[in-house]
Amino acid sequence: MSVQEIKVRNMMKHVKAISAFGPRPDGTAADHQAISYIKAELAATGARVNSLPLDVPVLEDEVVRLEIVGPAPESIPCKPMLRPGLTPREGITAPLIFVGKAFERDFTQREVKGKIVFCYEDLPFEGPTPEECNFPGVKTENAHKAGAVGLIFSTRRSDSFIQTWGLHRELDVIPSVSVPFSELGRLKERYEADPNLQAHLTVHARVVQGQSEVIYGVMPGLTRPERTIVIYGSHHETNPGTPGANDNASGLAVMLELARYFSQHRTDKTLVFVSTCGEESGAWGSEEFVKQKPDVYGQCEAALIIDMVNSSENGMLTGAKNGKKTDVRLNKMIERYADELGYYLPVIEEPTITRGGLGDSFPWVEKGIPAVFIDGYHSDYFYHTNGDLFEVLNTNVLKATADPVALAVKCIDQE
Ligand SMILES: [Zn+2]
Repeated sequence: MSVQEIKVRNMMKHVKAISAFGPRPDGTAADHQAISYIKAELAATGARVNSLPLDVPVLEDEVVRLEIVGPAPESIPCKPMLRPGLTPREGITAPLIFVGKAFERDFTQREVKGKIVFCYEDLPFEGPTPEECNFPGVKTENAHKAGAVGLIFSTRRSDSFIQTWGLHRELDVIPSVSVPFSELGRLKERYEADPNLQAHLTVHARVVQGQSEVIYGVMPGLTRPERTIVIYGSHHETNPGTPGANDNASGLAVMLELARYFSQHRTDKTLVFVSTCGEESGAWGSEEFVKQKPDVYGQCEAALIIDMVNSSENGMLTGAKNGKKTDVRLNKMIERYADELGYYLPVIEEPTITRGGLGDSFPWVEKGIPAVFIDGYHSDYFYHTNGDLFEVLNTNVLKATADPVALAVKCIDQE
């Protein structure tokens, strides 16, 4: 068995194909195209493919606009969050107020009732404490609790791209849009010159009941099929406006290539290949799979979760200091194999990484199943933006995840 048989060209083909479907929020036509593609590719390896269908609200005929009103009106480019609260069709007009990073403490000195707040995040991803999380979902809740009627968000990671986020499975509490950081800067200048500045915000859509799926392909083990190793390509859905080449066509590409590879090198234990929905709005697809499908993953000895592994620094994230963590032994095993192969795939001890930061791995960790989370979110300049394109991928980086994972699977299989 040689990892040379794991081919970058195959993984690139998958990233290109999946990202070409474009932004694919749960339940949209593009999401369904990605689902069909993944199912067909998995089936081609001989895996038995099945899925867990899940209901999800889908927005149709969206109208999303942000305008400054008053003597010098202007329109600001923006995108909605994955599941924002909605305004009436005619939108809302309200005074603007800047609230920094919109941590809870940012609302104690300011009167935001009835206003549209604007705020930003910068690195690191997590805030100084788990309560002061940089996650926009938390910022939106803080703003809502304080009585704001809308939220404008931006990220400092990039000046020109628009970064969008998933918030919750159901529609969020207040309408929220994201703007480029350069535009947030201009907005702040105008606001400082005129504290009574008002904005008109429209986030309107028809909400229909849609469906997405957690896809799974089973490759039965030859001699010990009751034991399983789960290779988790993570999520096929994206936030709005991002084609998600890295986040997360990259993880799916690694999974699909490993499925092809292991179809040629069958294991003694059963391999289960999984692609989820609902990661961006709280990893609920993964949660449902862990809850509803123990008959599929059975005696699971390792769940290897692979998400956005074309970032500049990928590694195995461990989890919060005092919280539940990914598996120490498996993390070290993959780190060691990477090292032996000449790659750098370190265990990343980042004490502030909380539940959300562990993405699709958290439901496994929570259930006490040995899990690994290979990810690179904290180092990706294009993260969640319209700049996350196939054209900017670091081609060979995918092998630095696929190869050591393949060796780890082989090792766990022999135990
Ligand atoms: Zn992701």
